Amino acid sequence: MSTPLSGSLPLSRRSFFHEGALWLAGAGMLPIPSLLATTEPLVRVGLLTDLHYADKDPRGTRHYRDTLEKIARAGEFFSGKGVDFVVELGDIIDAADSVEVELGYLGRINREFAKLGPERHYVLGNHCVDTLTKTEFLGEVGQAESYYSFDRGGVHFVVLDACFRFDGVAYERKNFEWTDPNLPPAELEWLRGDLAETSGPVVVFAHQRLDVADKHGVKNAAAVRALLESHGRVAGVFQGHSHRNARLELGGIHYTTLRAMVEGPGPENNGYALLEVFPGEVMKLTGGGLQESREWRLAVSG
Ligand SMILES: [Zn+2]
Ligand SMILES: [Zn+2]
Repeated sequence: MSTPLSGSLPLSRRSFFHEGALWLAGAGMLPIPSLLATTEPLVRVGLLTDLHYADKDPRGTRHYRDTLEKIARAGEFFSGKGVDFVVELGDIIDAADSVEVELGYLGRINREFAKLGPERHYVLGNHCVDTLTKTEFLGEVGQAESYYSFDRGGVHFVVLDACFRFDGVAYERKNFEWTDPNLPPAELEWLRGDLAETSGPVVVFAHQRLDVADKHGVKNAAAVRALLESHGRVAGVFQGHSHRNARLELGGIHYTTLRAMVEGPGPENNGYALLEVFPGEVMKLTGGGLQESREWRLAVSG
C-alpha cells in the first residue's frame, strides 16, 4: 500500500474531482462535464507503463511475452483519437542475462511501440537500465536525453529521470538497489530553471513515485514536490513503477500512478490511457483495460 505524506491543501490552491456524479467548481468556472462536451483539448497524449517486455516465461504475476499482444490492443485504443504523442513511463523491458539479449528485447518492443505514433517519449525505469547503460538504452530508442522538457498545445511537459543512486551515480549494469531512486542535485537545478522559464500549465512524467515515502518512492521526492508546488500550475504528475492504479493529491497537485501492462495473463489484464489536457487545467484520463479513468481541474488563485 502507498502512504500519503500529507493531506490538507492550502485554500488558495484547490483542485476538484469529477467522478461522474454532480460536480461543481468555484464561481465563474464551467463544470467539467459542460467544458468537456464543448471544448477541444489542447493536447492528447497516449500513456503506457511497465511493459516489462522480455522473451521469457511468466514469473509470479508478470507475463512478459503477453505484452506484445497487450500493446497491440493499446494501439487499437489510440487509433483515430488524434494522439499528439505517446509516452511510456518506464520499465519497457525486463532483464536478460546479457547486454545483447536485453537490447534485443528493447528493439522488439520498441518496434511495436513505434506503431502507436511517430512522436514517442521514454521515461527511464529501473528495469530499463538493469543490464544496459543509459547511453545504450537511449541509443537504441533514439532519444537524446533521460530528462528534458518540451511544449505542445501551450502545455509544458517535463520528463524526469530518477534512476540515480543516493550518491548521484547513474543506475546501470546492476550497480543499484531498486529502492534507491533519487533526483541528483544537477537534475533538481535543471528542473528549477526549467519551471522558472514557463508560465503555462505543466504536466510531469516520472517512473518512480513522487507522492509516497515507501519503497516505491523517490528518496528526495519532498524536494521535487516543493519545486513543483512552487510553480503553481502543475496540472498533473503521471507515474508508474508500483504497478497498481493509485492517485493522491498533495500540495494541490494530482499524482496518478498507472497500472502496469505486464501484470496478469492475456490481453484482458492490460492497462493504457488517453490523457487529454483542456484549457483551464482541466485534465481527463480515459483508461483502457484495467486502467482507471478520472477527470480533474486545477484551480489556481492568488
Ligand atoms: Zn515495473
Ligand atoms: Zn520500476
